[in-house]
Amino acid sequence: RTGTPILEVRDLCHRYPHLESNALDKINLKVFKGERVAVLGANGAGKSTLFKHLNGILRPLSGEVLVKGVKITKKNVRMCREAVGIVFQDPDDQVLAPSVEEDIAFGPINMGLSREEVENRVKEALEMVGLTGFEERAPHHLSGGQKKLVAIAGILAMRPEVIVLDEPTAGLDPLSSARILELIMKMNRELGITMLLSTHDVDVVPYFAERVFVLHHGRLEADGTPEAIFNDPELLRKAHLRLP
Ligand code: ATP
Repeated sequence: RTGTPILEVRDLCHRYPHLESNALDKINLKVFKGERVAVLGANGAGKSTLFKHLNGILRPLSGEVLVKGVKITKKNVRMCREAVGIVFQDPDDQVLAPSVEEDIAFGPINMGLSREEVENRVKEALEMVGLTGFEERAPHHLSGGQKKLVAIAGILAMRPEVIVLDEPTAGLDPLSSARILELIMKMNRELGITMLLSTHDVDVVPYFAERVFVLHHGRLEADGTPEAIFNDPELLRKAHLRLP
């Protein structure tokens, strides 16, 4: 691929206080508009840490992250967060508003949109995730799968160009997982949103991913097609991955 990547990571290092090794060690990668990328790696490999760098939630120890060719800085971090939305693993970790509608409206309100526009965005996002009619429901009373859909709708309502999902199907039953994956594919195909997701479920990968990044102890161990990744027995052994 050529042209300006929608996301680019250059020599990125991250270190958490009191840890002796870097959680991310010289990561270099590019993601292009419209791509669907899976990020694989064992627990602690650095997937969540990498994701938090993609829209400036964490700041690099060294190296840089570029969104649409522009380096993330203090000044433009707001814009980067609008362009790159992250759906975190556990929706309960985030503050849940009293109603689904308020939960989804949080992002658009923060963007300074008019009341009418916020209402449109909420309606549009609920429709996309298939939760029309859920406006007044209490998020904490919803099922795990429905909470995940609300979290995705909240990101969608900001009309991001990239959506990053941290283990979106973790803890969900097969039907809810399939529904989330279908939604991710639909947002990619119909809205052209670039998708990155991490998962421990390798069965998801051939269905979803055009490209795979494999992280291992904070390093980018591989970057290739699912075919190339799953045909490399040494890589699979090293990164503790099984075949789909
Ligand atoms: P998982 O699959 O379990 O979600 P991961 O690949 O997302 O793992 P990270 O959560 O990015 O991995 O963690 C990378 C490393 O950084 C691990 O060694 C982890 O213990 C450490 N780490 C993560 N968050 C923090 C933190 N807030 N403070 C200190 N260390 C952290």
